[in-house]
Amino acid sequence: MLPDSRVEPLLSDPPERPEEACGVFGVYAPGEDVARLTYFGLHALQHRGQESAGIAVGDGETVTVTKNHGLVSRVFKESDLDSLTGDVAIGHTRYSTTGSSTSWENAQPHLSTIGRQVIALAHNGNLVNTRELREELRGRGIRFRSTTDSEVIATLIGAFTQQHHHIRDGIRETMKLISGAYAVVLVTEEALYAFRDPHGVRPLVLGTLPDDAGWVVASETCALDIVGARYLRDVAPGETLKISANGLEAQQAVPAEKQSLCMFEFVYFARPDSEMFDCSLYEARRRMGEALAREAGVEADLVIGVPDSGVPAAVGFAQGSGIPFGEGLAKNRYVGRTFISPSQMLRQQGIRLKLNPLKHAIAGKRLVVVDDSIVRGNTTKKIVALLREAGAAEVHMRITSPPVVWPCFYGIDTDTQEQLIASSHSVEEIREHIGADSLAYLSLDGMVAATGQSKDQFCLACFDGEYPIEIPQSVREGKLALESCT
Ligand code: AMP
Ligand code: SF4
Repeated sequence: MLPDSRVEPLLSDPPERPEEACGVFGVYAPGEDVARLTYFGLHALQHRGQESAGIAVGDGETVTVTKNHGLVSRVFKESDLDSLTGDVAIGHTRYSTTGSSTSWENAQPHLSTIGRQVIALAHNGNLVNTRELREELRGRGIRFRSTTDSEVIATLIGAFTQQHHHIRDGIRETMKLISGAYAVVLVTEEALYAFRDPHGVRPLVLGTLPDDAGWVVASETCALDIVGARYLRDVAPGETLKISANGLEAQQAVPAEKQSLCMFEFVYFARPDSEMFDCSLYEARRRMGEALAREAGVEADLVIGVPDSGVPAAVGFAQGSGIPFGEGLAKNRYVGRTFISPSQMLRQQGIRLKLNPLKHAIAGKRLVVVDDSIVRGNTTKKIVALLREAGAAEVHMRITSPPVVWPCFYGIDTDTQEQLIASSHSVEEIREHIGADSLAYLSLDGMVAATGQSKDQFCLACFDGEYPIEIPQSVREGKLALESCT
């Protein structure tokens, strides 16, 4: 049963809209510049979200948030960081979906109150029972300002904390009700909390700052590295951490379920210099490429990768096949999500805004082009055309994951099933669509083996349709076009 709670003002009746994978960061370090540490942590997590960024700091009395649309470097000025003083902070980078409009309210951290106490919360992942929870809360007179799962989580924590008196109890009771993927950091005026869903779909790691200066939690280890923190361990599935003047207090809030780390973190999403399951993502991607060379070799002159995530795999393909590796596409790393939309003439250049072929390197060559995934098939088609225009004699696409056939409900924006090209087309049809001379995907077993882990550690649902967390029918209907598709 949900407890009654204070009524928040009704500003809008938000439409249903999924959350996306994001980056979260938290630091407890009295006497340190926690806002600046968070700022740099968010820089390392920029790849996980370019739509908006935010920092919330607890200063012993209250919590203050600065957040806005855009890249981390655009959102925060030196003066913002100077004014965010305190002992504890959290931060968030939000993932961008082409064409989606996002209100300021949807940017995170999400600020709310529990009685007179201010808290801020930042979330990575996607709940699958938001609608039910929101309807139930609405029945109790609670209204929402934003469309985010984070607000639902914060509202529940607030309501349960009022009933049970301690935030950790509020979090535990909330974790019993919410279903889906979540890695959450929460800050009060004096403490940092972190918790992770019972399947551990989204990553969350714990580290310590040098000289016992404090604790850090982050989506990826690359964000520990940037602030000089040492990786200690993963936050366990179903676990809650509280970090305060009493040190670290860990609690298994809800029982852990079968670990189901998102395989797409290994394939595409996480940074290559991060580690998951004690495995370097660069190395895993390199091994995926090596395995692909064994599974789907081809005669060619040069192996190139599609920057960024295809490059380690291309190195592996070259090592596995003996074909030389080379750079073939230069990426403009500063395109990101821009607020100045390109003119029609520029838009026609399409992919060239991001990728430009190195003509002299590829002209007349038979190319193996390695990328991590094909989702809709649109980008891959443009890349093949670009390489042909630049004089490639042959283009052999090699993909280091199996066909993406099923949509994601847990926070990676892989679209509805209708838009996933592999849900309705054979490999040969996809090859024809993208205009490649040949196309091959890595097998599921080959991909998993490259991580050094067994299959049962992962969510593989977008490849095999086996969703580890039940998807309510109302949510399935929105994304699953072809129920019978296998
Ligand atoms: P497409 O050919 O349009 O399916 O695009 C494939 C490219 O999109 C690959 O280079 C992937 O690295 C990249 N990609 C894969 N998953 C995603 C995602 N969830 N969001 C944005 N890009 C993605
Ligand atoms: Fe990751 Fe795919 Fe599972 Fe979504 S469905 S969590 S993208 S493996």
